[in-house]
Amino acid sequence: QPFIDFRDVWLAYNDELLAKQQFAVEAIDLRVAQGEFIAIVGPSGCGKSTFMKLATGLRRPSRGTIVIDGREVAGPLKISGMAFQAPSLLPWRTTLDNVLLPLEIVEPYRSQFRSKKAEYAERARALLRQVGLGGYEDKYPWQLSGGMQQRASICRALIHEPKMLLLDEPFGALDAFTREELWCTLRDLWQVQRFNVILVTHDLRESVFLADTLYVMSKSPGRFVVQRQIDLPRP
Ligand code: ADP
Ligand code: ADP
Repeated sequence: QPFIDFRDVWLAYNDELLAKQQFAVEAIDLRVAQGEFIAIVGPSGCGKSTFMKLATGLRRPSRGTIVIDGREVAGPLKISGMAFQAPSLLPWRTTLDNVLLPLEIVEPYRSQFRSKKAEYAERARALLRQVGLGGYEDKYPWQLSGGMQQRASICRALIHEPKMLLLDEPFGALDAFTREELWCTLRDLWQVQRFNVILVTHDLRESVFLADTLYVMSKSPGRFVVQRQIDLPRP
């Protein structure tokens, strides 16, 4: 049984667009196995963020069904973590407190946050050490480089042990050296924890280095479809 199952999924953003049959994505049909790492490439406007919104339950499809982890998606999913091109750490919080944020918001952690804070903080420290940020727990975002902030934002995305990690161009703003370092960090984390990853990127080399499967989305007049699936060799 696949972990993510899109069956003939179409989305028009509102009724007016639906009446005009203007879909942001059309006929998406794809299945992702448990623990699989997929990358999505495609030009601007082809529907990559729309796909992400559907995969997290932030948008419901106009047609078709989406089943994730055995259940039809009916609303925002708690089993996912997200990171974007901008690290968007809260400037008034330390690195540690930024990483802890999802545990203050997402159940079942939220209701136990006060009583378990020490345990949660230890988990956050361990994760920060794994990405090379040991010793930076008490620093504020402005005291960290861009790459370090992005490492922290990946820790924040993983702190509640999500089954699915959604990454929307997370390395796009980094220099080539830092980017490749972070690829390795992400691959190490993924090889241990085996969460599913959906990575949106403009960098083909990045998708080849990281992903099991590459999906190419295309934008031809009026159609936004998943055009091609490429199984990548594992080094
Ligand atoms: P990408 O992430 O690949 O750049 P998007 O998923 O953002 O593409 O956009 C796919 C299509 O849906 C585009 O034509 C875009 O203009 C349209 N679109 C995206 N968001 C909205 C929205 N909130 N309302 C209406 N149309 C949207
Ligand atoms: P994203 O998360 O990809 O930035 P959003 O749904 O948050 O997309 O859209 C950002 C803003 O741009 C929203 O106000 C949305 O309505 C608007 N928008 C994006 N594309 C379109 C479009 N094709 N037509 C109308 N509004 C759009």
